[in-house]
Amino acid sequence: MVGERRLLDGLDPEQRTAVLAPRGPVCVLAGAGTGKTRTITRRIAALVHQGHVAPGQVLAVTFTARAAAELRTRLRDLGVGGVQARTFHAAALRQLRYFWPRVVGDAPWQLLERKPTLVAQAAHRLGVDTERETLRDLIAEIEWAKGTLVTPGDYPRAAARRTPPVAAELTARVYDGYERLKNEARLLDFDDLLLHTAAALEEHQEVAGEFRDRYRCFVVDEYQDVTPLQQRVLDAWLGDRDDLTVVGDANQTIYSFAGASPRWLLGFSRRYQGSTVVRLERDYRSTPQVVALANGLIDRAKERPAGSRLRLVGQRQDGPEPTYGEYDDEPAEARAVARRIRELVESGTAPSEIAVLYRINAQSEAYEQALSEVGVAYQVRGGERFFARQEVRQAVRALRAAAGEEDPGRDPGGRPDADLPARVRVVLAPLGLTAEAPPGQAARERWESLRALADLAVELARAVPEADLRRFCADLDMRAEAQFPPTVQGVTLASLHAAKGLEWDAVFLVGLVDGTLPIQHAEGDDAAIEEERRLLYVGVTRARDRLWLSWSLAKVEGGRRYRRRSRFLHGVIPDGHPVSLASRTRRREEGNAVGTAPRPTCRVCGRALVGASEVKLTRCADCPSDVDQDLLERLRRWRAERATSLRVPAFVVLSDATLL
Ligand code: ATP
Ligand code: MG
Repeated sequence: MVGERRLLDGLDPEQRTAVLAPRGPVCVLAGAGTGKTRTITRRIAALVHQGHVAPGQVLAVTFTARAAAELRTRLRDLGVGGVQARTFHAAALRQLRYFWPRVVGDAPWQLLERKPTLVAQAAHRLGVDTERETLRDLIAEIEWAKGTLVTPGDYPRAAARRTPPVAAELTARVYDGYERLKNEARLLDFDDLLLHTAAALEEHQEVAGEFRDRYRCFVVDEYQDVTPLQQRVLDAWLGDRDDLTVVGDANQTIYSFAGASPRWLLGFSRRYQGSTVVRLERDYRSTPQVVALANGLIDRAKERPAGSRLRLVGQRQDGPEPTYGEYDDEPAEARAVARRIRELVESGTAPSEIAVLYRINAQSEAYEQALSEVGVAYQVRGGERFFARQEVRQAVRALRAAAGEEDPGRDPGGRPDADLPARVRVVLAPLGLTAEAPPGQAARERWESLRALADLAVELARAVPEADLRRFCADLDMRAEAQFPPTVQGVTLASLHAAKGLEWDAVFLVGLVDGTLPIQHAEGDDAAIEEERRLLYVGVTRARDRLWLSWSLAKVEGGRRYRRRSRFLHGVIPDGHPVSLASRTRRREEGNAVGTAPRPTCRVCGRALVGASEVKLTRCADCPSDVDQDLLERLRRWRAERATSLRVPAFVVLSDATLL
């Protein structure tokens, strides 16, 4: 185990206070990038180091399987192995597997895999015609209800305080029908895992006793997004003890649509007498330019509960200003982003240090295509889980078969004298692991998965030189069990929700238009709009060095529709940042990127266009010309709407020679 000195290395005084606080309730309230996750890792290590707890007595709950796996790795690096770091669901599943026979007898239950089918079945029995949209709404409502501990009977009353997307009575009946069907088939959904865990501990004293004996210290990351159901599980885990460390940022609450609430985070010190509360304000992740944008965004939030008024103070050296780009339509935006990414990669940025973040998963398609076209590898987060992918399962089967043929007692230096990575490549080659990536999106994704497996073999061989195929298969099993997929080397495409807690050198926030961010269905609901603003804040604060924000004015499918840049950017884009308005030909894409370049002058009146950049031909919007009248009208509207609030120079830059 590393010495205590090293545990405190690279921590600021406030972080140290949290790390060294005595056992008992500790709450770290802090903004994005201030080192909350770093602090809990060190605190766990310090508690173990000081002999307060054994690693196996610590249960750390994080938001995603990836975050949990990372926490375990970081702890191992600090010489602390054996800490249980899991998501709420994974922790509950593990406990239920253990307690289940004592709680419900031997009857086997299974995890429900296809919730939409069962909800649709329940709806059809009631004669409800479920188009896809409605089904999605029904599922979301059922999940909200279960997450907030609302039963089918209570649902109509609880829903009356919100604006439910489907008639409350109808949802309640479908919810009830779904529960019945599920129970008849002896299936458990994800929320049931939590409900049954809480019930097992609340109702079975000896189960609770055994559990509390085993786990003595609890840690929760991203505590601002805990649901009432998760809080109930946490309470059941704790019993009357208070050895709990939580960290969170109320400004990053982005799951309230699923019932999450920052009220436990903000009310922590009232709930736990004598707790240590630490606030962190120093932002170590991002450049001051990114921090300023994040502060500007969150300062404009309409409602900020006490305790969430933290201002980030950038600690890093100056970096480049964020860049803004306006495009005609989504394909043009995606192509421009992909080109910029290729330039970054060519100039030495690792693809795994770049992310494209969007509001809804459907937005990924345009970027997948554009990145394929420029030949940059990518991975979509939150897509199908790595070890569940067909090609991965097939590859693991083939590796197992090959391992079975291997003589366990063989001399590692003996036959086909190949080392582990070479053996793995031989097995994976017939499945499609060629030296170069194949053309075509599907083939490329398959290839990326196989290459990720081959990279894991290299990693293992480096750590354990004598490892053979059997050992490699065992390693893969462990990773699958821990839901710890390998990093596929590529640009990350992810929704803003999936990006929580993560960081990249370069971040592209795309599709920033009203109707997408904020999302259409948040309209008319102030609280929902504010949650959308926080989502953008989460997105901005993922960037270490470089940040691009872009939007496009027309949507291509379903006809060209005029759209507006996201309202959250109004007044946030600082002075001196030009916004280019693209025209409608392919050529304009070239001039679309907005950055810093020599100042051009208006071709008609000759006045300097302060702040304009990268334009081919320019003209201020006041000057008459034979420009397409429709476009001119759009420019006027644009100016009237935005120029004052944006504090941008009162002109518009055109970037298309064909218009003038
Ligand atoms: P988020 O709210 O996004 O989850 P966070 O508060 O959990 O952010 P971390 O991910 O722990 O922040 O830290 C952000 C970055 O700052 C990481 O790269 C981390 O290594 C670094 N960092 C944290 N504390 C310090 C410090 N005291 N000195 C230098 N770097 C630090
Ligand atoms: Mg974090």
